[in-house]
This record gives sequence, structure tokens and C-alpha cells, in this order.
Amino acid sequence: MKRSEPHQHSARQYINGRWETGATTGIRRNPSDTGEVVAEYARADRRQAERAVRAAADAFAAWGHSSSQRRADALDAIGSELLARKDELGLLLAREQGKPLPEAVAEALRAAQIFKYFAGEALRSGGETLDSVRPGVQVDVTREPVGVVALITSWSAPLSAAARKIAPALAFGNSVVFKPSELVPACGWMLAEIISRAALPAGAFNLLMGSGRELGATLVESPQVDAVSFTGSAAVGARVLQGAAKRRTRVQLEMGGNNALVVMGDADLERAVECALGGAYSWGGQRCTASSRLIVEAPLHDAFVARLRQRVAALRVGHALEKGVELGPLVDAPHLERHLEAVRGAREEGAELLCGGEALNQPSRGHYMSPALFLAQPQHRIARDEIFGPLSCVLRADDYEHALALANDTPWGLVAGICTRSLAHATHFRRHAKVGMTMVNLPTTSEDHHVPFGGRKASGYGPRAQGRQAAEFYTVLKTGYMLA
Ligand code: NAD
Repeated sequence: MKRSEPHQHSARQYINGRWETGATTGIRRNPSDTGEVVAEYARADRRQAERAVRAAADAFAAWGHSSSQRRADALDAIGSELLARKDELGLLLAREQGKPLPEAVAEALRAAQIFKYFAGEALRSGGETLDSVRPGVQVDVTREPVGVVALITSWSAPLSAAARKIAPALAFGNSVVFKPSELVPACGWMLAEIISRAALPAGAFNLLMGSGRELGATLVESPQVDAVSFTGSAAVGARVLQGAAKRRTRVQLEMGGNNALVVMGDADLERAVECALGGAYSWGGQRCTASSRLIVEAPLHDAFVARLRQRVAALRVGHALEKGVELGPLVDAPHLERHLEAVRGAREEGAELLCGGEALNQPSRGHYMSPALFLAQPQHRIARDEIFGPLSCVLRADDYEHALALANDTPWGLVAGICTRSLAHATHFRRHAKVGMTMVNLPTTSEDHHVPFGGRKASGYGPRAQGRQAAEFYTVLKTGYMLA
């Protein structure tokens, strides 16, 4: 196995157009090989967070009134550099977060595409003019940037999920304070390094790395922060919502799920197995759209389970940079332990383990686990709680109505999929699944980057991310009246 020389990055904060050291220093190790330090990074304290917010507020006067062409050019330049450096970014992402290299490069490409898309949106943003109900009066409805936005992200998609927030925020003229997860500081730093070359006014974009509890709370409760967009767990999301409510700050929460994939008796078996495999185990299941509940109609149940078990057991687990590896490690030791515990808990509750679910030794010391597949009952915790790892379960359904009821019997509502040849069932499912996104004959993880993304119930709060609709969160409406 030949790998490029591991390179240790030194990641600093970016505040008011300057690179800064932090109050303390943190270390991020490669989850595929814990002997390798990926980055030494600056950890900000509360005072630095307050300075970043002040810098963003000061920069807003210029950036919030900049021309749409200037914003479009800046975003286009960021997108071009991400595109040109996608292999380098993908390599860093694979080393820092642990997703296999091809998937990491694909994520870097997606981040580039998101910036390119919002470069166009900066030019297209506008309002509408209406006739007033009074003679001689003109009415128009225009959009303005919100102000200073704090963007707090998780570790699972450190480039694309960050781009999904940073690009629309900047496109519509907001100033940004970006706080990535402590587990992926170097990805946040490299993104910031690229953004720092896009000729934004000093302070229009700031990067803070460090403790979510300390920095997150400072950002959420700052009187100078006008909006908070958060991606992460439902538990922390609830805290963010409470903090923001105190000051009536605008909030967008993108949280997790335990997403269902329904497989009907008439489905193409091989396609359904592909959808389940990709939907449940890509990125090691560490994605909010993962289908951890596979609800299979009785006639296809046994054949589906047999084929999926074979495929899951054959998945190649290993170092994220190794050629042919399909599943990298868990992101860190506590996550590995949490998933091994979930396997033990599921067995104690009576779920039947069909394969996997064990810690694995590999040539390099990392947080490896064999992908697990269970037969479960709807009341089992693996069928109810968010999983966020290489673990899924099959539930048996008597018929379509039963399958739909099982799919909707959850506090979550991010995405749901169905594999079927029946147009009637596909159409009904698209209308009646209580989620933000539906998929027919596709993995639940296969979303596009130019249309709304997000969920309902415990999975999402506030306006959707992505697409034209991103303007709903990143702008405020103003209605103007004029008598000529
Ligand atoms: P997390 O909730 O632990 O942390 C998310 C972010 O919040 C991190 O940057 C963290 O530092 C910060 N944070 C921690 N405490 C905070 C506080 N008190 N105030 C403000 N911020 C705080 O989540 P995680 O482990 O990083 O990510 C996994 C979760 O993210 C999963 O639940 C997953 O489903 C979800 N996720 C959702 C989406 C989506 O788009 N819906 C995408 C990716 C991940």
C-alpha cells in the first residue's frame, strides 16, 4: 500500500482578515491511523469569539451593500479554487475525518459546485413590484441580508455542509462567523484559507475553532449575531434553539434522523439491495440521511435479507486512503464505543445480529468496526434512535400500508425512500411520507446540491438549506411603498 507522505497542518483562527493563534492548542489525529497527527490547531476562547463577531458586524456595513457582481465574483473564485484543489482537499478530508478517498474527493467537488451555484444566485436575487390598492402608489418587496450569521457545523460533511451555509450567507451579503466541529478543524481551516483569498472585506468571513460548548454558546447568545445556522445533533440543536430564543435570533437547525427505506415486494431485488447498501453504509453510515431502517414487504423479505447480508459482510473496511476500501473508520474512539454499545444493547433487546458489529484490528491502529446488520422490531432502540454509524436493521412489513405506517412511526423526519415498480405506491409514498425529502428507487443519501435540503419533526427547524429557497433564511424581506 503506497500513501503520500503524511503532512501535519498548522491551522490558525481567521479573525478580521488576519490569521491568529488561539488561547490554547488542540491536536487532531487520523482516525484511520491514530499514530498520525493530521493537524495542530488553534483553539479560540470566548474573547476571540467576541472579537470575531465584532469584526463581522463592522464588515457588514461594506459587504451588506456590496454589488451583486462583486459577491458573485468572490463566490465563483472560491468555487474555482475548490475545484482546482479538490484532490488535495479530499486527501485532507479522508485523513482527518476518515471517509474513503474517492468519497472525500467527491465531497470537495460538491463544495465547489455549491459555491458556483450561489455565485449565480447572488446575481439572480431580487424582489417583486406590485400595483398598490391605492392609485398612484407603488409597492415593492425586496430582500436584504440578515446581518451577522453564525454558522456551526458537524464533522460528518465538513466541506459540503459548511459550503451549504457559507456560500448562501456570503452570496446574499451577510458577514459570517464559521465554527466547524472540533473533530475536523483542518478542513475548516483549509476552506477558510481558500475563502481568505477571495477579496472579501476584512471581517466579512471569520473562522473560529474550538469548544462547541464555549464558542457555540458565545455565538448563539451574542447580541450582535442576527442569525444562527446549526448542523448537528438534536440534543445540541435544542440548546441552540433555547439560547437563540432568548434574543429572538433567527435560527435554522439541520439535525439527524433514523431514516426509512421501504422495499416493496415488487421491487427489483438488486436495485433495492444497492439502495440499502449505499443508503445505510456509505461514509460508514455517518451521515444524517443514512437509511438505518430497512422496511421490507413480506414477499421479498427473505431474499432481500439474504442478499443484503452477503453484500454487507463483503464490504471492505480499512484505512481511508487504501485503494478499494469501502468503509473507513468511525470518526473517533467515543463514537466507536457508542456503536459497539448499540450492538450490545440491540442484542440484549432481542434484535438478531446477522453479521458484523465487532471492533476490527487493521494494520494501522484506527477506530474500525465491521458493518452490522440486524433483524429488529419497531420498538427496538436501533429502529428508533439516531444511529450515525455502520449499523442498520431490517423490519418486516405485511403490506404497503403497514410499511408506510412503520416509516412514519418515528420522531424524525429528514428523508424516506421506497423501492418499488408500482407507480401508485411510489406516488402515494411521496405524498404521505412525513419527511423533508423522498427518494424513489434511489438511496436516501443521493440528494442534489441545487434544490432544498432539510427535514421536519425532530430533524429540522426553520427554513430549508440549499437551492433558491436558501434566500428565505439568509435574507429578510422589506416592503416599500412610494407615491410618485
Ligand atoms: P454535535 O451536536 O455534537 O455538534 C455539532 C456542532 O455544534 C459542533 O460544531 C459542536 O462544536 C457544536 N456545539 C457543541 N455544543 C454546542 C453548544 N452548546 N452550543 C452551540 N454549539 C455547540 O453534532 P456532531 O457530533 O458534530 O454531528 C453529528 C450530528 O450531526 C448527527 O446528529 C447528524 O445527524 C447531524 N448532521 C445533520 C446534518 C443535516 O444536514 N441534517 C448533516 C450532518 C450531520
